[in-house]
Amino acid sequence: MKTCNKCQINKPLNCFSKRKNTSDGLQWWCKDCKKLDDANRLLNPKSRSAFLFNSAKLRSKKFGGVVSITPEWIEEKILKGKCDLTGLPFDLTPVENNHVNPYAPSLDRIDSKNRNYSIENTRVVLSAVNAALNEWGIETMRPIFKSLGDL
Ligand SMILES: [Zn+2]
Repeated sequence: MKTCNKCQINKPLNCFSKRKNTSDGLQWWCKDCKKLDDANRLLNPKSRSAFLFNSAKLRSKKFGGVVSITPEWIEEKILKGKCDLTGLPFDLTPVENNHVNPYAPSLDRIDSKNRNYSIENTRVVLSAVNAALNEWGIETMRPIFKSLGDL
């Protein structure tokens, strides 16, 4: 058993994630507290921007390309509050069961063959839009998005 530093509840060891460089090799906070904190952190535009920036860095490390946009640039877009493509509002709140909120802001490379996250090649769009574009591209999706307006 171990007492969580956050909620102060005594919990079984398997309620704590592993962590290097601590005396017992476990996190200070229990998994529940960590999860809640991660979710709360993502509600904040500044930390959400840092999260998106770091994800882009990781992707470019893995697949190549240069990240020249800054967390501040992303934050400005998020604070503006609207998808660059659809004009629909962003929603930073998490959804159940680890699903992605379709309205969550995400970074979309305008020319998907260009691996660089530059100001010229990046827009901040709804996650649902980004997923559709990743799969089929703008040429395929444009008539589909348009026709939805008539429903
Ligand atoms: Zn806790």
